[in-house]
Amino acid sequence: MSVIDLRSDTVTQPTPGMRDAMASAPSGDDVYGEDPSVNLLEAELAQRLGFAAALFVPTGTMSNLLALMAHCERGEEYIVGQQAHTYKYEGGGAAVLGSIQPQPLEVQADGSLDLAQVAEAIKPDDFHFARTRLLALENTMQGKVLPMSYLAAARAFTREHGLALHLDGARLYNAAVKLGVEAREIAGHFDSVSVCLSKGLGAPVGSVLCGASALIARARRLRKMVGGGMRQAGSLAAAGLYALDHQVARLADDHANAQWLGDELRRAGYSVEPVQTNMVYVQIGEQAQALKAFAQARGIKLSAAPRLRMVTHLDVSRAQIEHVLATFVEFSRK
Ligand SMILES: *Cc1c(COP(=O)(O)O)cnc(C)c1O
Repeated sequence: MSVIDLRSDTVTQPTPGMRDAMASAPSGDDVYGEDPSVNLLEAELAQRLGFAAALFVPTGTMSNLLALMAHCERGEEYIVGQQAHTYKYEGGGAAVLGSIQPQPLEVQADGSLDLAQVAEAIKPDDFHFARTRLLALENTMQGKVLPMSYLAAARAFTREHGLALHLDGARLYNAAVKLGVEAREIAGHFDSVSVCLSKGLGAPVGSVLCGASALIARARRLRKMVGGGMRQAGSLAAAGLYALDHQVARLADDHANAQWLGDELRRAGYSVEPVQTNMVYVQIGEQAQALKAFAQARGIKLSAAPRLRMVTHLDVSRAQIEHVLATFVEFSRK
């Protein structure tokens, strides 16, 4: 039996079609700007999301870092969610490498930041304070989709206050598929958007940062500085292009699997948060370690968190999700 890995949507294997696309991808030295596959990916995604330019980078962490550093000088500040990836899960890179001060705010139940709180956090123009430059949002945020009306409000708000607006869109396409809108309708509200190819889209490696030409030119220089300039990266870019062409619509299957698992676990007596996209959060409490071991013995990989996150993806079928449910039910009856 193959292992069912629900720890993240980063664990997927390249599909056969993706491997073919990677194997036959034309390639060149991307630091010279000569990799046709990288150039195509950057041009395609920029065009699809409605931006002038884009930059292919190894990771979402680097993509966000370059965005923050391209928007903010040292001693400037960005406002961000306390639970946001760019603040909490990226090693403090913007502070360490960019000398950019984060101003974290508690994320609201729906994944957004309260714009009234953001307004209060903006520093007056006074040499005592860091200069507030940027608001960074995340969509999806722990599986939650930010409402389109909120994005429009955030755009108007940042214009009014002279801030730039960045989106950590690691799972932008999950949000778009869930809402039934084109990804560009979401992206269009932002000055820059980072998209992960290596999450639900199923590519092995890579993220793309999209923005205006001048911003992406700064990010390209910074990418070199942080050691992210890759050479014959064409096969990686080809995986991303393949994912964008063939593995976006199927995200709806992941969402349906997550929804089904969430509903059935709730029926079985578990405390499950509402499911919107491909993440199921369950309150397991102090049973977390025991559940992890119990599931491991039945071919299921879980994290050992009291607030357990399970993530559906292209390497988890409905039949496997049914096995996961049966395992949880068995565990609860122990
Ligand atoms: C995974 C993730 C990232 C970073 O991507 P890596 O490729 O793992 O560095 C950024 N933001 C969010 C919301 C993520 O889930």
